Amino acid sequence: MGVPHIIGLIFSMLRASRATPEQIERLREKRFRRLLRAAVARSPFYRNLYKGIDIERCPLSDLPVVDKKTMMENFDEFVTDSRLRKADIHQWLGNKNNYGKMYLEKYIAFKTSGTTGENALVVYDRHALDYVHAALIARHAQPEPITAAQTINLILKALLTKRFSITAVLMTGGPYPASTIAAYPPPFYNYFVKYEVHSLLEPLSQIVRKLNASSCNELYSYPTMLEILAREQLEGRLQLKIEQPLATIASASEPLTDSVRKLVQKAWGMKIQDTYGSAECFLMARSCGRFERMHVMSDLCFLEVVDRQGRPVPDGQTGDKVLITNLCNYVQPFIRYEVSDVTGYSVQPCSCGQPFPTLLPVEGRTDDIFYVERPGGGYDAVHPYLFLGPIVEMSQVREYQLVQTGRNEVTFYYVPVNPAAHVENEVRKVLETGISNAGLSDRVTVKTVCVKSIPRDHRSGKMRQIISQVGVPGDLDTYQD
Ligand SMILES: [Zn+2]
Repeated sequence: MGVPHIIGLIFSMLRASRATPEQIERLREKRFRRLLRAAVARSPFYRNLYKGIDIERCPLSDLPVVDKKTMMENFDEFVTDSRLRKADIHQWLGNKNNYGKMYLEKYIAFKTSGTTGENALVVYDRHALDYVHAALIARHAQPEPITAAQTINLILKALLTKRFSITAVLMTGGPYPASTIAAYPPPFYNYFVKYEVHSLLEPLSQIVRKLNASSCNELYSYPTMLEILAREQLEGRLQLKIEQPLATIASASEPLTDSVRKLVQKAWGMKIQDTYGSAECFLMARSCGRFERMHVMSDLCFLEVVDRQGRPVPDGQTGDKVLITNLCNYVQPFIRYEVSDVTGYSVQPCSCGQPFPTLLPVEGRTDDIFYVERPGGGYDAVHPYLFLGPIVEMSQVREYQLVQTGRNEVTFYYVPVNPAAHVENEVRKVLETGISNAGLSDRVTVKTVCVKSIPRDHRSGKMRQIISQVGVPGDLDTYQD
């Protein structure tokens, strides 16, 4: 743990990027057995689940699949430290004064914003976190690969002359994965990295003003927010400079679509480094310096693409679900953990020469942004987290869906935890506060509708939390140039 651990990891990850697929396979196998041993030795849940299985020899596919519901119902036995209890961690996370502190002085915890059922609670320790930070550095995409010597050179330069500056626009104010990871940098980071996090809960004009007052080497956000910022940049309101060395725009947490890719390229003349991950396994795949497809970090995780029945899906096709095995987190072992992401392996090799397999590109466009009419013409892009952020914190609501029902009207459908309770006033107040904080109270009307259940999307079977019935305005681009 600590500085030597993370530096060692960075160099071993840089080495792995130049290894052969067979060497990666051996490294993964070693890490996999070590994880299984730790899980069986210290997690009562896994000890029971793997009874009768030879964990020294069994193939991954012999192990039972675990889903979020099972994990959350058995949380206290699932983790490998008996002091970690779901109820206590929830309570601890509820106290905003604990933000930035470590639970029991050694753990960080975050909640996922799942689309169905209870949100997952995820715990990492410093050891697991070191892998995340090391991978963020070692798997940082550059058009030309960077050698270990160049990495040291860049670090020295940052230490002695100007710190490397990362500007992030993220969901803040709660245990959200991306901002939580950013809030717990390795101990030595501050000497050569300046990390600036802006909250996307602030009015857009305010975020733009702050970004205009600074410059950065890396801009990091969600694709939906990058789309908003790219439009601001193209319209000239935002003048954010992304400087060398290592000038990067990185996206995470949501699928990056081709339209966002193109818009960002137009705004800054740069390609986006895409990241695929989740709270359960923060970094599963990242794009390389070719910026075409994402490479699965198969030295750090298993990513199995399966169909609805759990059968493996051939390369070149997308599946219905993904089974994640995070090889670096021994506190809360995620082994064949099911998530409902839609992805698949590509059959085309990448010309960069990395030994890691690549994923199929994401298709379609982002329809998660609401465009509302601006007085005097044009549109304001509103990130749906503006509304959803505060709702996630509401314990009285079980499920919800936010629908843009008119250009300047949203309807919030919700299922209360207790059907007999009348929580309409509270729900309305939370939504109206979000809208007012975004400076949109005079323009956007909110309707709330209490329902028994939220219908699932007939195609994917999943619930969509954000839907725009009015879509992207047809004349949006005429206001862009
Ligand atoms: Zn590549």
